[in-house]
Amino acid sequence: MTEKSFDNIEELEAYRAERCRNIDENLKVIRDNMAEAAIKSGRNPEDIRLMAVTKTVDEYFINHAIDACGIDLIGENKVQEMLRKKPNLHMDGVEPHLIGHLQTNKCKMIVGEVDLIESVDSVKVAKEISKQSVKKDLTTGILLEVNVGGEESKSGMEYDAARDIAAEISELPNIEIRGLMAIPPICEDEVKLRGYFSRMNELFIDMKSEKRDNMNITILSMGMSSDYVPAILEGATEVRVGTSIFGGRIYD
Ligand SMILES: *Cc1c(COP(=O)(O)O)cnc(C)c1O
Repeated sequence: MTEKSFDNIEELEAYRAERCRNIDENLKVIRDNMAEAAIKSGRNPEDIRLMAVTKTVDEYFINHAIDACGIDLIGENKVQEMLRKKPNLHMDGVEPHLIGHLQTNKCKMIVGEVDLIESVDSVKVAKEISKQSVKKDLTTGILLEVNVGGEESKSGMEYDAARDIAAEISELPNIEIRGLMAIPPICEDEVKLRGYFSRMNELFIDMKSEKRDNMNITILSMGMSSDYVPAILEGATEVRVGTSIFGGRIYD
């Protein structure tokens, strides 16, 4: 639990009411910004999906975002946190995605629990997802995570290796590659930042036109609280926003 502690129920309720109001207002602003960026990029606002990134956020507020604000896509970056929270969430009509780095030994736990694993960055982890999906007799959708800035510290496959890795993964049973995900380097320079997003869009467009079994590329997941507008301007079809919706995160 990351919920603050309160002396009495009135205090708790006042805190919750205020946070819910903030969530409502934040989502209004974000959706307006998204729509404006969509139109600027020559697209329909409906064609760009908003994911609410719910890591560290208490279930109470996630349910508020779902019930009162129409959030229908949520993302968690840790397998255990997703599995712990999911039973307490109003998941009817809501898609859960895993967006954090996935270790092979956790594939077994997450396969069948999310609609999409956005953070597949190796053939090795894809093989394990495929194996577990065969066992459970289902197909798992994945995105390939690309380390577009070539940063040492970040997960994700090398940009130039993505198409070969996709070719290899597409041979695996019970897996479907649905698109690409990226987290560009933190950078103040807007031109440079847009360059990373536009490179991702180039790869996305190239891969869309490639015909392979088990590959149906429609999703380009990029852009977070600080950069979802430039991401949309450069072609994102999904943005993953946490802090700007729920406020700053408090880690245990
Ligand atoms: C936490 C996280 C986000 C959201 O980040 P914010 O800056 O809080 O919007 C997006 N994508 C991934 C993979 C994350 O782990």
